[in-house]
Amino acid sequence: MKRICAVGAGFSGAVIARELAEAGFKILVVDERNHIAGNCHTYRDSETGVMVHAYGPHIFHTADERVWSYINRFGVMMPYVNRVKANVRGRVYSLPINLHTINQFFEAAFSPKEAEAFIRSKARLDIEEPQSFEEQALRFVGEDIYRAFFAGYTRKQWGVEPSSLPASILKRLPLRFNYDDNYFSHPYQGMPRDGYTEIVRNILSHENIEVRLNCDFNRLDEKFQHVFYSGPLDRYFGYDLGRLGYRTLDFEGFRTEGDFQGAAVINYPDPEVPFTRISEHKHFAPWESATFEKTIAFREYSRFCEKDDIPYYPIRLLKEEQLLKQYEERATAEPGVTFVGRLGTYQYLDMDVTIARALRVAEGYLEQARL
Ligand code: FAD
Ligand code: UDP
Repeated sequence: MKRICAVGAGFSGAVIARELAEAGFKILVVDERNHIAGNCHTYRDSETGVMVHAYGPHIFHTADERVWSYINRFGVMMPYVNRVKANVRGRVYSLPINLHTINQFFEAAFSPKEAEAFIRSKARLDIEEPQSFEEQALRFVGEDIYRAFFAGYTRKQWGVEPSSLPASILKRLPLRFNYDDNYFSHPYQGMPRDGYTEIVRNILSHENIEVRLNCDFNRLDEKFQHVFYSGPLDRYFGYDLGRLGYRTLDFEGFRTEGDFQGAAVINYPDPEVPFTRISEHKHFAPWESATFEKTIAFREYSRFCEKDDIPYYPIRLLKEEQLLKQYEERATAEPGVTFVGRLGTYQYLDMDVTIARALRVAEGYLEQARL
């Protein structure tokens, strides 16, 4: 029997490989990088000892009990609540927009009810069905908060006007009229004690799985029973219809003594500041952060993804949507290949959704194999 190939050793490839391996299939997992875990890769910085999230901060949060127990099966998840701050014109505010932010920003002491009525008086209620990011923001928080917290950050993050972005991007963020500053609303949230790479290593640790790093799938000459491809969709087809647009990130790392900013993430929405946020990684591990004398932090810059850059965020403007449809049709027609994950389906997927989908894809394959 021929082997199955999983292209990419991120959560998508690893979870599918594990499920099929447990059902008795032999799997080859290849990744062209020199490490497993894809964009969730973590490593200990040798100078500070801090666990670094190599491709940007990753916080695990989910409402899916199956996914939560899956991740806990392969690693120890420590309690972690993401609390983000924003530096706006030299003042520090609480995020996501909550009662504290509103009272700080408007120099008030509103109760929840008063704040709600006040924001409603500022909100553009005439925008009945917001289509764009800008309309969504104006409808829900009004002009002042939109300009201070969202307009500049979003222009820097996406490189386009917020009026040309879909409303769905802002819908990821809550608006609260209490002092809850948990960035996420999911019931389960945590951080892996030994890093994400250790979790993926445990997922991949099975006698039926071989992992090959520094290995481009396109250079393999082995024939496979089936391929699960978590690389970029357009790249699989040689970009012959054109390139799907992505944003890439540049991380400017620096080390200092002690504590640099006192929080894991501080956003910088001001348009004059060239970066979007600074993340200080020892604060992602509150159970050990006090043990480090030094610290490491990263300024994060967003720009259009060129040919040799790492694709991070799918842009999905109208142009991309049309191109995507054409590539999707070809992907569906491609025999023996299933396209999965963030790059294979060209969708922004959080880790929990990535795992849930990978489990479903594997289940679907096993069901078919049984028929
Ligand atoms: P990836 O992790 O991208 O893995 C794909 C792998 O395929 C890569 O390692 C690549 O090298 C390999 N590959 C591609 N082509 C080939 C080829 N031809 N041959 C061999 N190998 C190939 N999610 C959260 O839940 N919480 C967060 O806080 C969070 N923060 C994020 C922050 C940033 C900046 C970004 C960009 C994403 C964030 N995410 C977060 C999303 C998370 O990164 C994804 O859900 C996850 O990485 C998706 O896993 P994947 O396996 O589909 O893709
Ligand atoms: N956003 C913003 N200001 C902030 C934080 C977020 O304008 O301080 C916008 C920005 O457009 C971002 C979107 O809200 O892309 C979703 O925010 P989230 O924190 O989910 O961003 P991600 O995790 O995708 O980087």
